[in-house]
Amino acid sequence: MKLLFLVDAMLGNIARKLQIFGYDSEYKSNIDDLELIKKAKNEQRIIISKDRELIIKAKKQGIISVHITKENEIEQFLEILEQISLELDAVSGDRARCTKCNSLTSQIDKSNISDKIPQKVSEFNDKFWKCNNCDQIYWEGTHIKKMQEFLEKIKLGRRA
Ligand SMILES: [Zn+2]
Repeated sequence: MKLLFLVDAMLGNIARKLQIFGYDSEYKSNIDDLELIKKAKNEQRIIISKDRELIIKAKKQGIISVHITKENEIEQFLEILEQISLELDAVSGDRARCTKCNSLTSQIDKSNISDKIPQKVSEFNDKFWKCNNCDQIYWEGTHIKKMQEFLEKIKLGRRA
């Protein structure tokens, strides 16, 4: 079963990386602990948070929760991996979710979006994806390549 996440607002960077790895990861600001716990419980989401009090409350409710204590993103990801097994074999634009709205994306032909992307981007990229919900356009040159590098660092960290 694919894991779902609910990430606290302080960890938006982690939520976005999980989305690029293909995980449904909502992140919420302006939501109080009780509401957040209720949402996680209803939607069977794993809570990821820096807030120790919240983690304790969530665990009491039987919700799988990961307490993040580190500041560095690589170390934060390693903290998650110590507690949860994620499939992080490779990064793929076909699997990545929209980092603006957490929705699924679909591959789109370059000719359909040529008026919406800079000329240079169009010249140097062949594969494009569009969010099924908010129409945000993605291409390999941006988040996918950066995430591949990030993934390599995580793998190195796991071996260390
Ligand atoms: Zn979107």
